[in-house]
Amino acid sequence: MAGSVDENRGTTTAQLLKGQRALVTGANSGIGKATAIALGRAGADVVVNYVVGADEAEKVVAQIKDFGVRAYAHEADVSDEDQVAAMVAQMVREFGTIDIMVANAGLQRDAPLAEMTLAQWQKVIDVNLTGQFLCAREAAKEFVRRGVVPEVSRSAGKIICMSSVHQIIPWAGHVNYASSKGGVGMLMQTLAQELAPQRIRVNAVAPGAIRTPINRDAWSTPEAEADLLRLIPYRRVGDPDDIANAVVAMASDLLDYVVGATLFVDGGMTLFPGFATGG
Ligand code: NAD
Repeated sequence: MAGSVDENRGTTTAQLLKGQRALVTGANSGIGKATAIALGRAGADVVVNYVVGADEAEKVVAQIKDFGVRAYAHEADVSDEDQVAAMVAQMVREFGTIDIMVANAGLQRDAPLAEMTLAQWQKVIDVNLTGQFLCAREAAKEFVRRGVVPEVSRSAGKIICMSSVHQIIPWAGHVNYASSKGGVGMLMQTLAQELAPQRIRVNAVAPGAIRTPINRDAWSTPEAEADLLRLIPYRRVGDPDDIANAVVAMASDLLDYVVGATLFVDGGMTLFPGFATGG
């Protein structure tokens, strides 16, 4: 089984999650896809959730199976209560239980306030916020039922919420998205506080600008990318693997004492870069 990063420098994630079982929502594209593959590389069995795009989901499954772990694709809309419950129930039948829930699925429906329809507002809240609530709830029920299995992990389960720098940075023209991610921050902290006594760790990973289909307009031309780089002190757009590696670390026992934290993976985007030369 190959490790992921810099084997020539002696670091590898190959066995970090050996024997654990993970579900990643929205795992046939972008960050979710990279995360599902990275979890498999780290030794976890993986459920690849998707809502549209079965072919791409099956390709991700094949890549994960190459690591010698189990994987299958599951179609479900994360904003649908019954579909989420059925997805986790199916996973418990197939894999025996769940150890890691990565609530990653998300979308944007952008518009200035006066033009934003209720449907645009509601869709984003339903998928980005309610979807994370439903996925966290179904995973937590199974974590509580099963409890800690010390040979597998020091915790009874991990919930990782995919947030965004817009958990804290206001974003004009995207009030639905920014509100959903602000909500994810408080959802995560409240669940972390509520579930920690049962040895369940709830945390968030908050990406900055990552090269995926969700924000293609922001990086697909040299002009757009130059504009974007002004907001990133580290002066590079992130790759899905930057986030996937953070999720693997967050899910592993290396970070067992990290509870209720948001890990910003953003090249410094949350450092108020405008103040580097002004203020
Ligand atoms: P993406 O569009 O490549 O992937 C989003 C995935 O979510 C897709 O697989 C999509 O089909 C899925 N999805 C959408 N609605 C769904 C539903 N109802 N049920 C199940 N799956 C659904 O975008 P991405 O950049 O990989 O985004 C992944 C997450 O990362 C999102 O939560 C997004 O808000 C967050 N994020 C991305 C960036 C970035 O720069 N790319 C920055 C901050 C946060």
